[in-house]
Amino acid sequence: MRWTIQFERPYTQSQQDFRIVVRDWLLQHSPGDLRIPPDGSPLQPEIQTRVKEFRRALGSQGWLAPTWPKQYGGGGLNPALAEVIQEEIQTLGLPAMGDNSRWIPAIMVWGTEDQKQRYVLPALRGETITWQAFNEPNSGSDLASIQTQAVADGEDFLINGQKSFITGRFDPDYLWTLVVTNPDRPRRLNLGLFMVDANSPGITITTQRLLTGSERKVVLDGVRVSGDCLVGLRYQGWEIAQSILEEERGGAAHRPSEDGTVESIHEYLRHEGGQER
Ligand SMILES: Cc1cc2nc3c(=O)[nH]c(=O)nc-3n(C[C@H](O)[C@H](O)[C@H](O)COP(=O)(O)OP(=O)(O)OC[C@H]3O[C@@H](n4cnc5c(N)ncnc54)[C@H](O)[C@@H]3O)c2cc1C
Repeated sequence: MRWTIQFERPYTQSQQDFRIVVRDWLLQHSPGDLRIPPDGSPLQPEIQTRVKEFRRALGSQGWLAPTWPKQYGGGGLNPALAEVIQEEIQTLGLPAMGDNSRWIPAIMVWGTEDQKQRYVLPALRGETITWQAFNEPNSGSDLASIQTQAVADGEDFLINGQKSFITGRFDPDYLWTLVVTNPDRPRRLNLGLFMVDANSPGITITTQRLLTGSERKVVLDGVRVSGDCLVGLRYQGWEIAQSILEEERGGAAHRPSEDGTVESIHEYLRHEGGQER
């Protein structure tokens, strides 16, 4: 018996026209010979510089977040054209260059307009890197038990504590940081979320070696943060964090592969599917 399985992706003419534009642009701008070790270790400064340059170039086109509104640094494109950009980037065989971006929808929901302009716009333009700093040495699955604390000091807050197993291959500009804002309030209703400038005095970042690679440890020692870096209300941190974790830990119905795995399976099936068994 002979099986014929068809895996064809029909494209519209506008997608194919756009593909030519994207391919030309990528060939001119992409760091084609770049190889990034897959083990999660911090990247060497020269690799970081090259990748960041490329991210900025992509971002200035609006192609880092193609479907997002232009006013926040996106490309304002429809999903069909956004797909073309992603396919063309994958065709180049570039390594994953992703930033943690789950905080962005959260700021769009709970942030002020000023915070959207301050944090979302440069992130979507590829100008900034943000790490998600929730986990702590003694608070993993039981995230509500974190100890890092922000104490009000006039208009500012002073943050003290530690965050561990934080993912980040590129040096960060911001730390999206979950903290206790009032230890006397009930669990989960005592937390706030700050966008902390990662270059603030009092922040020390070290590397934690793991069997599977490495992650980062962040110590915050008396880090002064302006009150307008608090996103949402002072005790809304848990609600905001949960909306991010829902997406991160299983909410997404579809996640495009960053390393070409899905595409290679698709390619394999295209060639093997029609063969007699
Ligand atoms: C590669 C990597 C990248 C990460 N990146 C980030 C990041 O960017 N930002 C960030 O904030 N965090 C990050 N983390 C941290 C991650 O969120 C935590 O590792 C995770 O929440 C689990 O916490 P834990 O490792 O302390 O495990 P634990 O909480 O100690 O759990 C260990 C085991 O015990 C089980 N367990 C725990 N409590 C119970 C219970 N009450 N009953 C039954 N079973 C239980 C768990 O299911 C698990 O199997 C990262 C972790 C890794 C490994």
